[in-house]
Amino acid sequence: MTRSIRNLVIVLGDQLDAGSAAFDGFDPAQDAVAMAEVREETDYVPQHKARIVLFLAAMRHFRDDLCGKGIDVRYTALDDPANRGSHRAEFARLARQAKPERLIVCEPGDWRVLENLRALADDLSLPLDVVPDRHFLCSTDDFAAFAEGRRGFVMETFYRWNRGRLGLLMDGRDPVGGRWNFDTENRKSFGRDGPGHIKAPRRFTPDDTTAEVVRLVDRLFPDAPGRSDLFDLPVTRAQALAALRDFVEHRLEGFGRYQDAMATGHPYLYHARLSTALNLHLIHPREVVDAAIAAYEAGGAPIESVEGFVRQIVGWREFVRGVYWREMPSYAERNALSADLPMPRFMWTGETDMNCARQSVGQLVDHAYAHHIQRLMVLGLHALLLGVRPLDVHRWHISMYADAVDWVSLPNTLGMSQHADGGLVGTKPYCASGAYISRMSDYCRGCRFDPRKAEGEDACPFTTLYWDFLARHRGRFHDNQRMTMQIRNLDRRDGGEVAAIRRRADALKSDFTKESYP
Ligand code: FAD
Ligand code: SF4
Repeated sequence: MTRSIRNLVIVLGDQLDAGSAAFDGFDPAQDAVAMAEVREETDYVPQHKARIVLFLAAMRHFRDDLCGKGIDVRYTALDDPANRGSHRAEFARLARQAKPERLIVCEPGDWRVLENLRALADDLSLPLDVVPDRHFLCSTDDFAAFAEGRRGFVMETFYRWNRGRLGLLMDGRDPVGGRWNFDTENRKSFGRDGPGHIKAPRRFTPDDTTAEVVRLVDRLFPDAPGRSDLFDLPVTRAQALAALRDFVEHRLEGFGRYQDAMATGHPYLYHARLSTALNLHLIHPREVVDAAIAAYEAGGAPIESVEGFVRQIVGWREFVRGVYWREMPSYAERNALSADLPMPRFMWTGETDMNCARQSVGQLVDHAYAHHIQRLMVLGLHALLLGVRPLDVHRWHISMYADAVDWVSLPNTLGMSQHADGGLVGTKPYCASGAYISRMSDYCRGCRFDPRKAEGEDACPFTTLYWDFLARHRGRFHDNQRMTMQIRNLDRRDGGEVAAIRRRADALKSDFTKESYP
């Protein structure tokens, strides 16, 4: 005889935490869990094989953990012939079998998914409880309270507010170390000798469950971008904790100083590589910042590194999530700079003469990872200067990065990187010429282009497109105080020279966008 179910708890692929609010009051005798691998999620943009492997492998490990605790998990595999292919249809099928009195889900990380689940509850005429996501340090209500009554809000203000109220790295009302910001000590490049030896992040060799997923993905998605054979990301909570320990022990110390540096052959440098574990909820942001602060207190890492790291999580990560839920769904449509070109094909393949882009996309293809400065100041910068449709940049991002989830990718790509929200996430566009990349990396040394040149056969495309970008948007930015120097430098240039640069930029635009993907 099938038992009747009280609550059916829907667990999505980025909600893999048995301590989530969706499990509050969970009674294995009366309640059950529904999880589904659906083609809707793997196909809504073409996806990197490693990204699909990550989600499915982590979901299957989580399912096995729950089953080990005696929990009834209704799980649909991607290749199950009964699988209806979308959250709405597949959870409806599972719910019709389970006949629960109520559906429960933790706040999803994607507006589209939340809408689908609401539609599902309507289809089934069942109540749906959407419970708060405790995997953030600032709830959507807290963020609304912070934003209320402010004419504009910038990340720095939010960061100080959030850090202060959480009492993180605080000495009473003052920041530890006497300053909120150690940027002047940070942002160094490596110089001619390069970074030297930095211990690479710990790798997690696929176990049987993950290896089976790799085979499934190779079989079902032979033409998907990226590689699955190098997959080594953490897919369980135990692995995520091991990855955190590894970062704190071996890389946190240099994190701040070299936060903005790039180097050939070093995909991770001093970065944490914890974003996938955080975004799938295998590990809590509080655990991550507490571990970094404990290292500082034990003398294992300097304040500028620990503050820089805490800022990324307590500041940026929480801020973009607040912006996402406050501004959606219209946020996704914003295009303040009227950018209308498609994403160039090399962004998926790495086939380009531009060494900085070739190195960065090469890493993406291998590991579904590029660090922040490669995202912002190489690949995002190229799309910004070229004038790619911001939503396409976001969709490409979702397709190529293992850590991309709507709430975090959209404000970072459309807002921070493409300035398409008109200045909500960042008060000025992150625009720069090849000179910036040359200063912060060794890429230009191995490139056929010259970062100082905007014209001629060996002109750096970034430099040409940079001046074109400034000229194109001069009217919008000339009274932005943070852009004064850049606009002044443009105005110093000879008019005929600028016209020639712009002609070259037009040729580059048609060349870069003559082939797109898929
Ligand atoms: P580290 O550099 O070591 O930083 C530590 C942690 O801080 C990260 O794990 C992450 O959780 C957090 N963090 C740092 N910066 C940000 C930020 N701007 N927003 C949110 N969290 C931040 N991060 C994602 O998790 N998913 C995305 O889809 C994503 N898209 C991005 C798109 C663009 C264009 C840019 C510029 C940044 C994006 N980021 C995104 C933020 C950041 O680049 C990644 O979190 C980081 O590179 C992940 O690698 P890491 O764990 O080694 O991070
Ligand atoms: Fe990139 Fe230009 Fe430097 Fe080449 S010269 S690596 S294209 S910034």
